[in-house]
Amino acid sequence: MDRGEIYRRLGVEPIINANATETILGGSLMRPEVVEAMAHAADSFVDLVELETRVGKRLARLTRNEAAFVCGGAAAGLVLAAAACMTRGVDDGILRPEDLHRLPREFVIHPGHLVPYVSAIQLAGGILVEAGSTEGTTQRDLEDAITDRTAAVLVIAGAHLAAGTLPLSTVIDVAHARGVPVIVDAAAQIPPISSLWTFGAAGADFTILSGSKGLRGPASTGLILGPEPGIRRCAANASPLHRVGRPMKVGKEDLIGILAAVEAALADDEAAIIEGYERAVRHVIAWGNGRDDVDVVREFPSEAGQPMPRARVTLLGVTPARRDELIGELRSGRPRVSVRPAGDDGIYVNPQTLQDGEVELVCRRLAEILDEGPSV
Ligand SMILES: *Cc1c(COP(=O)(O)O)cnc(C)c1O
Repeated sequence: MDRGEIYRRLGVEPIINANATETILGGSLMRPEVVEAMAHAADSFVDLVELETRVGKRLARLTRNEAAFVCGGAAAGLVLAAAACMTRGVDDGILRPEDLHRLPREFVIHPGHLVPYVSAIQLAGGILVEAGSTEGTTQRDLEDAITDRTAAVLVIAGAHLAAGTLPLSTVIDVAHARGVPVIVDAAAQIPPISSLWTFGAAGADFTILSGSKGLRGPASTGLILGPEPGIRRCAANASPLHRVGRPMKVGKEDLIGILAAVEAALADDEAAIIEGYERAVRHVIAWGNGRDDVDVVREFPSEAGQPMPRARVTLLGVTPARRDELIGELRSGRPRVSVRPAGDDGIYVNPQTLQDGEVELVCRRLAEILDEGPSV
């Protein structure tokens, strides 16, 4: 079958993704070894808790953490880590919603870290408490925000969100001095692959990663990494047990698939992958140099603050409305191309999700639309 054919048969035209590892575009493309491992996993029944435990042990060793748990996506990881933090004083670690009023349930966060995903904390019964203001957070602000109602401090990793926030080492020092754990949501922080261990090594109690972004594993997987007691409480609240995490199910194929993805990701030549991104960005710059209606520059870091480049294409003399229209034309044309807006007058071309030969197609479609001009 041709690439994309299974979607076209349903009338769903595939998309060239020059945008990001966005769930709404399908996340990432699973590695072939992941697809193959998942097909093998589909051939037998197993004891899912036994498999979960074994896979967790393997992943802990591979990621240089004491323990690991596979969750149904990074957002599900936030729910489970929140449950684990609220039940620190509960013997069996099980979150019983009727007990919420007597548990520490406040999650302290920098206002600049209030990304849409943090609603997962509220889903678990947690309450978000802001330390400081969007202008900035001081160590004193953080100390004042932490009380006996605090379940954890939640940090969203990424250089793009760092402005006005405290360094992770300060957050960890302040929280740990008060016996409060720190959750690091590093969902989109691969590359670099070292994100599997750097946050844990810095003292984070829970590092959460998405399985369907840089790891290129199954869409509905994520990793929670960290010291054993906390990870054990995540498992105590998760599927297949009938607990709060039961709706965020991870199947046997997902467990085998994410393990294969991590093994393969660790064998990647990361420098070569990033050089491939640099090449794609150079291609867009060279294309832009041949036109007088665009200005293309290399931007760094990526949209998620990762240490890798993207191209910013400024559309000269174009109104914001025309820029939006152009993004729409890229998206609805043939092939469909998804890009992200840059400021009022540009677009980003992100190489991370482009396949071989696609950066050329993106430039060609952009040229066609620019040459045609506005439709009226
Ligand atoms: C993508 C993302 C998530 C959600 O990851 P899923 O694996 O899709 O659930 C959570 N937090 C941040 C910061 C993200 O970028």
